[in-house]
Amino acid sequence: MNVNTIANKVAAGGRIDAAEALTLYSGAPTALLGRLADDIRARKHPERVVTYIIDRNVNYTNICVARCNFCAFYRPVGSGDGYVLGFEEIFRKIDETIALGGGQLLLQGGHNPDLPLEWYVDLFRAVKSRYPVFRLHALSPPEVVHISRLSRLPVPEVIDRLIGAGLDSIPGGGAEILVDRVRRLLNCYGKATAEEWLGVMRHAHQAGLRTTATMMYGTVETLDERIEHMIRLRELQDETGGFTAFITWSYQPEHTELGGGEATGVDYLRTLALARIVLDNFDNLQASWVTQGGKVGQLSLACGANDMGSVMIEENVVRAAGASYCMDEIEIVRNVENAGFTAKRRNMHYEILGDPIFRERAVPRMLHLAVARADGDTSRSPEVGRYAARSAAEKKARLTGH
Ligand code: SF4
Repeated sequence: MNVNTIANKVAAGGRIDAAEALTLYSGAPTALLGRLADDIRARKHPERVVTYIIDRNVNYTNICVARCNFCAFYRPVGSGDGYVLGFEEIFRKIDETIALGGGQLLLQGGHNPDLPLEWYVDLFRAVKSRYPVFRLHALSPPEVVHISRLSRLPVPEVIDRLIGAGLDSIPGGGAEILVDRVRRLLNCYGKATAEEWLGVMRHAHQAGLRTTATMMYGTVETLDERIEHMIRLRELQDETGGFTAFITWSYQPEHTELGGGEATGVDYLRTLALARIVLDNFDNLQASWVTQGGKVGQLSLACGANDMGSVMIEENVVRAAGASYCMDEIEIVRNVENAGFTAKRRNMHYEILGDPIFRERAVPRMLHLAVARADGDTSRSPEVGRYAARSAAEKKARLTGH
């Protein structure tokens, strides 16, 4: 099939296969790809509402044994820069989030061998007993796999225990590209294979949780593999219907072992538009302004995105790799309205919560993203010592007090 035939098929609401997606991505002008994606966005969201959520990206630990070569965030076990947040520190972040109108933490972290399943269960219980209606969107599939291996419990049981403690939904992080050739080259095959990532999501959906799906592109994958990733997500969505949204962003190379360059803005918009076309069973696509900046984030609304993601308050992972864009609620709404849409607050389930909160009450401006911890704060989490240490570095730290 040629580009025009495939474009007509998409315009008529047809589903395209991997070969057709590759032909379209390789041959269609950006304006055509954008128009096809925008038409799908308009069919799915004819009311011209663009949503966003107020929440906070909290990374509970940066200590990680996975050592993905694209990651600038992690610190090895025993590093002087390694941290685990204490429960009180997390409560303070929740208080600040609530003050800004937020109702959820996006809680993710490194694969820390000294945090057993009980640490997560105790943290979730403590949060829910103090903030009963606050939501925990927590633990990407590789973290769940890591906890399952540490605790020697199967993934479904780990998910059930976490749900019992207060887990509300699972973020789609750690997917990178769901093709094992790519995962081996990125040194992230060990943390979770493509099948393991999809397996966690399948179990989560079967247990009644909604989750998101992501794609980090622009490292070592071919276009075929980028498309294979989308098709694998589409197949699981056909099976379970549990994904609420898809988010894609480009690899951020600064301070990483892998190095290399960053994909361009046009590549981002084309990839986003293609995802909108291929993922015909996903209701929502987010614009990744945190990696692409506000201006490309705004252009995403013309290429298939119907959601501006998060007023995220705090961000540590992308910043470590060199990107440090910040938009508070006022700035996100300005970009949405300037693009001709109505901005509405939502929750993780994409239920509309209302109009922008700053139009209802005074909220502080947030012109810089917060960080996990202030520079120089090397305090130890008081809770970690309640659980048996597994790593030699943690055992030594407990003996010496450092
Ligand atoms: S991407 Fe996640 S799992 Fe990989 S090294 Fe970084 S923190 Fe660890």
